[in-house]
Amino acid sequence: MSLPLFDRPADTRDSLFINGKWRSGASEEYLNVTNPATGEVLASIAAGQPSDVREAIASADEAFPAWSESTAYQRAEYLYAAHKLMLERSEDLATLMTLEQGKPLKASRTEVKYAADFLIWFAEEAKRVYGSTIPSARGDQRFVVLQQPVGVVAAITPWNYPISMITRKVAPALAAGCTVVLKPAKQTPLTALAVFRIFEQVGIPAGVVNLVTTQKPNFFSDEVLASKAVRKITFTGSTEVGKMIARDAASTVKRVSLELGGHAPFIVFPDADPEHAAKGAALVKFLNTGQACISPNRIFVHRSIADKFLETLVARSSKLKAGNGMDAASGVGPLIDEASVGRMQRQVDNAVSGGAHVLAGGARLTDAPYDAGYFYPPTILTDVSSDMDIYREETFGPIAAVTIFDAEDEVIAMANDTDYGLASYVYTRDISRAIRVAEKLRFGMVGINDINPTSAAAPFGGVKESGLGREGSAVGIAEYLDTKLIGISV
Ligand code: NAD
Repeated sequence: MSLPLFDRPADTRDSLFINGKWRSGASEEYLNVTNPATGEVLASIAAGQPSDVREAIASADEAFPAWSESTAYQRAEYLYAAHKLMLERSEDLATLMTLEQGKPLKASRTEVKYAADFLIWFAEEAKRVYGSTIPSARGDQRFVVLQQPVGVVAAITPWNYPISMITRKVAPALAAGCTVVLKPAKQTPLTALAVFRIFEQVGIPAGVVNLVTTQKPNFFSDEVLASKAVRKITFTGSTEVGKMIARDAASTVKRVSLELGGHAPFIVFPDADPEHAAKGAALVKFLNTGQACISPNRIFVHRSIADKFLETLVARSSKLKAGNGMDAASGVGPLIDEASVGRMQRQVDNAVSGGAHVLAGGARLTDAPYDAGYFYPPTILTDVSSDMDIYREETFGPIAAVTIFDAEDEVIAMANDTDYGLASYVYTRDISRAIRVAEKLRFGMVGINDINPTSAAAPFGGVKESGLGREGSAVGIAEYLDTKLIGISV
């Protein structure tokens, strides 16, 4: 089939972008990229080797002095141009993303816009990297504090948000004056190739951004973690891999940013509008087929409004038709792979054997046309309790697990009873309660009557085992800057 933005098979096979040139990997091995809705092979890409990663690091290291010494205004110009081109190509980028990742085309369009937002946001932030002066106790001394780029940055991105996770890392790194080597997830490399073509076409100098696709992620992580030239690693993905990166980054004392898994509580208090809350829950739970780190994993509803809430949740979920993301009627796309479908069934079976009830969904979709892909329908479980796997494990799929509660203190304790701490949601019409609960939730983000507390302008990130550091916002660029003190005798 023909892919948007790539005319010839060779365009994707030469998927390594190193020192301004596209080429295949050292071993000339390739891997297939497939459509999770149909199983169809979309393209082949190069399986990069450790030597390719070393070359990419060397190229970024060589490009660093000139790039870091360019002015913030010059660097911003490249980001403005990339923003413009990304929006011009929005429809093709969205189509490509739906083909390799599965999400409905409408959701892909929204993600492209979100990705472009980071380019323009950090183009502007580049010009606001302020230093400071500090009074000294000595009359003949002055202190000047500079903010300087950390150096070469290694970035690893996941498949669930294939375009925005790239710009959320690369835009602040480039704005700060860093150079980059990036490895996308092997499930969604085509979107990454298309983004790097944009970087190439707006004329970002050779070596400033480098892309390595590979079948074996440790080829990339082993090399970047061991390299003394790489001064920072930024990772979005599972907590398990994030912990390994944090541990191994210690050997060269690199800066680390981690955006890891989540297990968001969604709390509906008795004074909330149960229908409004249920509509919000359905929207955010089934977004991206539940494959979002901010997806609610446990929904806590007050006993007094549980019936109305569940009735609306079931009605909303039954309207969401699973299907190929290219079909405008599809409300939810496929899961990314077979393992994900297996995890859904395991979590549902485990919950049911422990006493949970299935109000909707609950079994893989196996009839044509679903049989060719990885489809699991929107599923609603009630009577979920703390001894079930779904109460602790990240689901990363379209299962809404509902637990009933009676008291505010009780639900805050239940919500905080997790190793994760990324997003959380609270529905209430009581302003005092909203503030009280938001302050007590041990999560990096709290949405109050709001299911989308995310924006390029807002700090995104988690506490506890959900990560370190923040992306987006004014603090997002600080992750790529070192503080330097200059003390001067006058
Ligand atoms: P994953 O950790 O397996 O993969 C993420 C990335 O890490 C991919 O590029 C993958 O190739 C790479 N990777 C895998 N093993 C690696 C290794 N040993 N060394 C180096 N890199 C390795 O996670 P996944 O299942 O693909 O993605 C889903 C996870 O990502 C979920 O846990 C989700 O919550 C998390 N996530 C977090 C955020 C956030 O911002 N906090 C955003 C999206 C996804």
